[in-house]
Amino acid sequence: MTGQKKIPSFDLTRNYNRVKEEVRVALDRVLETQHFILGPEVEALEKEIAAYLDVESAVGCASGTDALVLALMSLDLKEGDEVITTPFTFFATASCITRNGAKPVFADVDPDTYNLSMESVMEKITPKTKAVLPVHLFGQTCKLELIKDELSQRGIALIEDCAQAIGAHRVIDKKICRAGSIGDLGCFSFFPTKNLGCYGDGGMISIPHGKEKTERIKSLRVHGSGKTYFHDEVGINSRLDAVQAAILRVRLRHLEEWNEERRIVAERYMILFKEKGLLDKVTPPVEESGNRHVYHQYVVKAERRDELQAYLEERGVVTRVYYPLPLHIQHCFSYLGYKEGDFPVSEMLAGTVLALPIFPELLPEEQERTVEEIAGFYGRHS
Ligand SMILES: *Cc1c(COP(=O)(O)O)cnc(C)c1O
Repeated sequence: MTGQKKIPSFDLTRNYNRVKEEVRVALDRVLETQHFILGPEVEALEKEIAAYLDVESAVGCASGTDALVLALMSLDLKEGDEVITTPFTFFATASCITRNGAKPVFADVDPDTYNLSMESVMEKITPKTKAVLPVHLFGQTCKLELIKDELSQRGIALIEDCAQAIGAHRVIDKKICRAGSIGDLGCFSFFPTKNLGCYGDGGMISIPHGKEKTERIKSLRVHGSGKTYFHDEVGINSRLDAVQAAILRVRLRHLEEWNEERRIVAERYMILFKEKGLLDKVTPPVEESGNRHVYHQYVVKAERRDELQAYLEERGVVTRVYYPLPLHIQHCFSYLGYKEGDFPVSEMLAGTVLALPIFPELLPEEQERTVEEIAGFYGRHS
């Protein structure tokens, strides 16, 4: 529509303006030290994240993808080993499995939360299963309490993909457990658009328990060397840099506030859908009880999704589809032998989900306009 301002799906500039001064002070501090790779700034961030998550330790690395690769490397997977995961996620969740020489085994997701169905995970376990890799998708934790004990009894590792869920939690045995503190390892991404983003690439692995695991992963991220130039095994080069760590330390102090603002945005969408009588056309995301959703994305199921998206685009409302093609039918995984129809829920979601604009600074007026346009598309003008 002419003359109307675009409503973006995210806006990093608005967020930067809120922390500009603090970030510049932190950057200056690093520039004065001229210490750029790992070092005290990264160690300080690792301690702060570990404290925030209430885990024993955390290890920084170069990206969320590398966090997943390193976590799986530490399991010493061999060819033929299986890792169970979801086909309805970002690509890196599955590629880290094949990059470690193992085989991704997919299980279907829950139609309401879009998260891995724990029942279908249990059905996929075989003697070759070495790990389960659930994703806390769009900011909501999976029901890990349903499988956690059984997996550990069977010696199967539980690796959480927390790239979209920093700060999310669920209550397990009356205890608040943050994403990344429930399984054996948690993998985080600091990609700029994530709830806690840096100004480049960055990632982290959380280690709830185990000094040996921490030491192993710290060694794997620096070419497998415990002592410089002495290599115990072949690792990778995946380090977090001090500039990103300093920025993240500033931003971590605001994370709770920003996550709370995302939750308010989500609540307002719900109110607006109800007011406009849209709930028969648009199904909002379901927040399970006993769990704090941090709305990395606000993903609805919508009737005539593609037409709606094009209509909104024309009117300046930017939306996204996460994810248009489930991983089991991606070309690169055709060798695994899956076919269309294998995971009906994931396939249904791929055709119906739409991510509406959400970020902490999104204005109530922008949300109102977004929902008005949606109402217009379905012929529900007030
Ligand atoms: C973003 C993301 C990753 C990868 O993180 P990068 O930092 O971009 O490498 C992995 N898994 C999920 C679910 C993600 O959303």
